[in-house]
Amino acid sequence: MSRAHRYDVVVVGAGAVGSALCLALATRGFHVAMVEGSGLPPTSALRTSAVTAGSLAWLKSLGVWPNSEIPAAALLSLHIEDARGQGRLRFDSADLGTAGLGVIASHAALEQVLRERARGVPDTAWYTETAQAVHHRDRDIQVELAGGTLVTGSLVVAADGRHSRIREQLGVRSWQFQYGQRAIVADIALGATHEGVGFQRFLPDGPIALLPLPDSRKSSLIWSTRADAAERLLALADEDFNMALSEAFGDRLGSLAVVTRRESFPLSAGHASTYTGARFALIGDAAHQVHPLAGQGVNLGFGDAEALVRALIACRGEDLGHSGALRRYERERKATNVGMIVATHALNRAFAQRSRLIGQILATGLNVTNSLNPLKVFFMRQAGSGAP
Ligand SMILES: Cc1cc2nc3c(=O)[nH]c(=O)nc-3n(C[C@H](O)[C@H](O)[C@H](O)COP(=O)(O)OP(=O)(O)OC[C@H]3O[C@@H](n4cnc5c(N)ncnc54)[C@H](O)[C@@H]3O)c2cc1C
Repeated sequence: MSRAHRYDVVVVGAGAVGSALCLALATRGFHVAMVEGSGLPPTSALRTSAVTAGSLAWLKSLGVWPNSEIPAAALLSLHIEDARGQGRLRFDSADLGTAGLGVIASHAALEQVLRERARGVPDTAWYTETAQAVHHRDRDIQVELAGGTLVTGSLVVAADGRHSRIREQLGVRSWQFQYGQRAIVADIALGATHEGVGFQRFLPDGPIALLPLPDSRKSSLIWSTRADAAERLLALADEDFNMALSEAFGDRLGSLAVVTRRESFPLSAGHASTYTGARFALIGDAAHQVHPLAGQGVNLGFGDAEALVRALIACRGEDLGHSGALRRYERERKATNVGMIVATHALNRAFAQRSRLIGQILATGLNVTNSLNPLKVFFMRQAGSGAP
């Protein structure tokens, strides 16, 4: 026999985005249930996320930033170039008038801290069972858990990631684009100190990024490349991998040596046909997925969570599943999210063109953009404001 509980909001998925939403709502007096799931793949300890200054400001307002439990390094400057080293673009915090562009943080630690904080808010209900079905009823909506428990709310928020079961259960269509690329991640020891500088080099098969870690002689590698090339790189002995890495990245950070195991992740983009409907909202990767080359996925998700909290606060006291508030949330977020998907997709595709002419145009484009400070500031403000 299943038991029934009733909440204002039922959040499914305790990743960084779902946990942040749960924390933000619960600390503002909403009665929230979180469905964390169990037996699902854990987040890799090697994954780092570029967290923008905009997102950090929001995390600060939630009381989770700064936080010594989240290993993170300040990103003071980002240097971008094409494969020939001709087109160069530098993003400096001075252009934004801020102390830094954001931080490169351990994604697993960020998630863990947000999860613990959300769970610690009195009156927040926490279910460690996987959600498997959703049932619409007249005045509320129910999430059915694997063990048969029914969790009832005015509103269900799907924050269960790119393969969202809740999205599927709600009948929301979503397009997916497979890049045929994988991102190899690992920690890399450097022959020089990184000085808070992140580097990204666009190669024909995908971008390769080295982003600062708290140890000034280590950077986090995110090497996006064709799936078959990734397979070969993963199979190499460390010494051979180091040689391949140095050849692809160049010598700006001295000799490069992998100091952890290597892992890889398939890369895709995607977008849900709608973010909201009768008593539901989608946020984070459940709503949209972007190529990681701009380091924006979790930042867009935090932006969604912040906008949804604002929309729900505006209709506090009314029925939270009410479509007006949800539509406001969707309107606010869709253009930003689609814009980022299109921009990252175009950038990834453009650099994949091997033609010399296109390479030269792009190189010129990068250098022109570099010299147009107002344009660059606009671009940086977009990147720096995952949470608006
Ligand atoms: C290689 C790589 C590098 C990246 N780098 C960056 C970066 O630098 N900056 C950036 O902003 N983004 C980056 N991203 C993207 C970012 O990691 C994601 O956008 C972000 O993690 C999405 O968060 P989320 O909480 O929406 O989803 P997820 O992190 O996928 O969390 C979903 C949660 O839901 C749970 N769940 C799933 N199904 C169920 C269920 N049925 N019931 C209950 N729970 C369930 C899962 O276990 C998980 O905990 C990167 C991605 C990759 C692959």
